[in-house]
Amino acid sequence: MRKNKKLKKPAGIKTISIHHGESFSEDTGSIMPPIFSTSTFTHGNKRNFDYTRSGNPNFTILENVLSSIEDSNYCTVFSSGIAAVTAITSSLQSGDIILCESNLYGCTIRMFEKVFRKFGIQILYCDFTNTEYIPYIYDIKPTLIWLESPTNPLLKILNIKEICDAASSIKIPVVVDNTFCTSIIQNPLKLGATLSLISTTKFINGHSDALGGAVLTNSEKWNKKMIFAQKSLGLNPSPFDCWLITRGLKTLPLRIDQQTQNAEIISKEISSHKLIEELIYPFNPLHPQFKLAKKQMKMGGSMISLKLKLNKDDTFSFCKKLNYFALAESLGGVESLICHPATMSHASVDEDTKNKLGINDSFVRLSIGCEDSEDLLADILFALEDFQ
Ligand code: PLP
Repeated sequence: MRKNKKLKKPAGIKTISIHHGESFSEDTGSIMPPIFSTSTFTHGNKRNFDYTRSGNPNFTILENVLSSIEDSNYCTVFSSGIAAVTAITSSLQSGDIILCESNLYGCTIRMFEKVFRKFGIQILYCDFTNTEYIPYIYDIKPTLIWLESPTNPLLKILNIKEICDAASSIKIPVVVDNTFCTSIIQNPLKLGATLSLISTTKFINGHSDALGGAVLTNSEKWNKKMIFAQKSLGLNPSPFDCWLITRGLKTLPLRIDQQTQNAEIISKEISSHKLIEELIYPFNPLHPQFKLAKKQMKMGGSMISLKLKLNKDDTFSFCKKLNYFALAESLGGVESLICHPATMSHASVDEDTKNKLGINDSFVRLSIGCEDSEDLLADILFALEDFQ
C-alpha cells in the first residue's frame, strides 16, 4: 500500500482507515473502489475469484482494512454480526461446550440456546467479573469461551488478558465480541483472544445503512474454518454492503473520538440526576470495573446504560419524548439512539435471566452519536423534567 519507501514509521490508525489499499481497478485511477456487483467470475482469472458466495473484490478490500486496523493476520467478512457468530459456532461438534459470559447480546444467546443446543452443543454461563471463573474453567474444560467487553447492555468490563491467559494455559480458544469498542478502543487479539468478532453494522460502518460482520484472527487454522463457513453456510455479505462499510470505515476514528467525547460529557452531567438510580459508563469512576476499563480501553466509548427511577410506562414515554434519540434497535451510528433492552435487543432472553441480570423495565441503553453534546444533553434533561 505504501509507495514512498522513506516512510519508515507505520501509518497511524486514521491513515490506515482511509487508505483501503488495493482497489482492483488500478487502470482507471479511481479513488474509490468500484462495486463488483457480480455473482460469478470467469474461470482462471488472475486473482482466483470464482463465485461471490466464496469471495469478491469488495470483501477483500474490506477485509484488508479491518485486518490493518486490528493488526491481525486474517479477516473474513460476513452478512451480519450474527452471521459471524454462526460461522464460529458452526465449527463446533456435538458434545462441545461453550462457556459464555452471563451477559451477552440477546440474539447471540438465542442462537446458542434455540439453534445450537438442538445439535448437542452445551451452553454454560458464568460471571467473568468474579474470579471464581478460573477454577470453573479448569474444572469443566469448555471447548470455547465467549466474551463481550463491555457487555451488552450492562457494560460490564471483563479482564480479557487475565481470562485469555487462564484459557490458553489449557489451550481453550477465546472469542471476544468487540462490537462495542472496535479496534480503535481495544484490541482483543493483542490481549490474547483467538478470535475477535465484530458486527460491522454498528460503529465500523457508522451510518446505519448496511449490515455486516467480521471475524479477525492470527490463527491460520481458524481462518480456514471461517472461509469454509462463509461459503458452505452462505454467510457471505453483499458486495454493495461491503462497499458501504469500507466507505463508512474511513471516518471510524473521527466518529469514535466525537462520540466518546459526547458520552463523557453526558455521563458526567447526568450521573447524579435524581431520576437516575444508576448510570453505567466504563470511564465513570463509580463503575465497578473502572480501573480495569481505564487499563484495558483507550477510551470509554459511547454506550451509556441507565437504571431509571421510572416505571415501564414512564420509561417508554421518556424514550419517546427525546428529539435526537430515536427509540430503535442497534447502536454505533452517527445518530444517537435509545433502546429498551428488556423488550428490544434482549427480548428473546428468558424473564428469569433478565431479572437476575437487572435488565428490567426501567433499564435503557443509549448509543451516543456525533451530534453536538449540548443538544443531546438538553434533550435528555428536558425529557426527564416531565417526570419530576
Ligand atoms: N454482537 C453485539 C454485541 C451486538 O450488539 C450485535 C447487534 O446488536 C451483534 C453482535 C449482532 O450484529 P448484527 O445485528 O450485525 O447481526
